[in-house]
Amino acid sequence: MRFITYLFLAIYFLFGSPANGQTTVRKAVFILVDGIPADVVERVPTPNLDQIAQEGGYTRAYVGGGKDTYSESPTISAVGYNSMLTGTWSNKHNVWGNSIKKPNYHYWSIFRFMEEQYPQKRSAIFSTWLDNRTKLLGEGLAATGNLQLDYHFDGFELDTAQFPHDEDRDYIRQIDEHVVAEASRYLKKEAPDLSWVYLEYPDDIGHRFGDSERMDEAVKLADQQVGKIWKAVQQREQQFGEDWLIIVTTDHGRDAETGKNHGSQSERERNTWITTNAQNLNDYFHQYQPAIVDIMPTLADFLNIQIPSEQVREIDGVSLIDSISLANLTVKPNDKQLKISWQALKKEGIARVWISTTTNFSSIGKADEYRLVGEVPVADQKFMIELNKPVTSFCKVVVEAPHNTVNQWVVPSGKANP
Ligand SMILES: [Zn+2]
Repeated sequence: MRFITYLFLAIYFLFGSPANGQTTVRKAVFILVDGIPADVVERVPTPNLDQIAQEGGYTRAYVGGGKDTYSESPTISAVGYNSMLTGTWSNKHNVWGNSIKKPNYHYWSIFRFMEEQYPQKRSAIFSTWLDNRTKLLGEGLAATGNLQLDYHFDGFELDTAQFPHDEDRDYIRQIDEHVVAEASRYLKKEAPDLSWVYLEYPDDIGHRFGDSERMDEAVKLADQQVGKIWKAVQQREQQFGEDWLIIVTTDHGRDAETGKNHGSQSERERNTWITTNAQNLNDYFHQYQPAIVDIMPTLADFLNIQIPSEQVREIDGVSLIDSISLANLTVKPNDKQLKISWQALKKEGIARVWISTTTNFSSIGKADEYRLVGEVPVADQKFMIELNKPVTSFCKVVVEAPHNTVNQWVVPSGKANP
């Protein structure tokens, strides 16, 4: 009897009581469905996305960086994916097009952050496009610390034997189905800690047919595919008591005239959306328009990934869950002053304002040299830096607050890369 009691206690302390929530295992999957404008996802019936949103939320979001600023980024696929993966815009991650010429791997992907801190945790990618793993994540490269994912199911665009290419791009539809079947099977069985599922078909149909019945059908199909992954997630939650975060998003909208193109900075191309089951979405999610760069910090937050301060000071997004202190930092040079302002989401504590004129991080991946220029209540929402000469050269401004850190660059030359 006593043995049984000890055994029970041992099990209790090892695994925790299911009710206390403290020891619940957390897992995350994010799905990028390519090229679906916000107005289309809102108009076309998407019952599975609606179900996910009912548990968490839906919001319009944006891509493309700060329009007409140093962080403006093309509304092109690989550019958007890398903003999602690294939490930064093109001026930092240095992906400007689908050829992915020279990514700046000093800006780590969420996969690298997880694998560096928790090497035992398991990561997976499901995608037709091979470059997502080999170029954006940079698997196996010295520059990414030889990042290795635990599982990949990708590269089917290159398999012309199994998926012969046809003009109507039906082979991409078949590949997406193939990818989704495996993603749902693998998630249900192996439950990787972090997974990226990439679906391409809606973008291909968009390019070919533009705004059309065909596009609407592609979106409905994508919704069903998301539903299969969502079902796998729900089964894991029910069967194993795991706590799963699912985030579904897109990488750009499409032009207003035809719905065929993207890449520019029109409203419809910049407008995107995020659907998630996240339980504790914050006021920033609900009251502002989040960006694709907010997904990485959200995943980090949920998976309890600690990001070192020199890297936190570079990330352009903020978490969509839990408390954040401030967002939407702006820095306006005005002769010998820098006018700094932000929106306070939790009006408590002190904001520390830092300034740096070095570019160590982007060039060699090392911390920049910052000096503290002011301390002010977060609730003030503004601060003025007085300088002894007019602002003519590059600098970085960082504002650190109790719950999060934000940054902006001042680039008088207008060039994205100083
Ligand atoms: Zn795309």
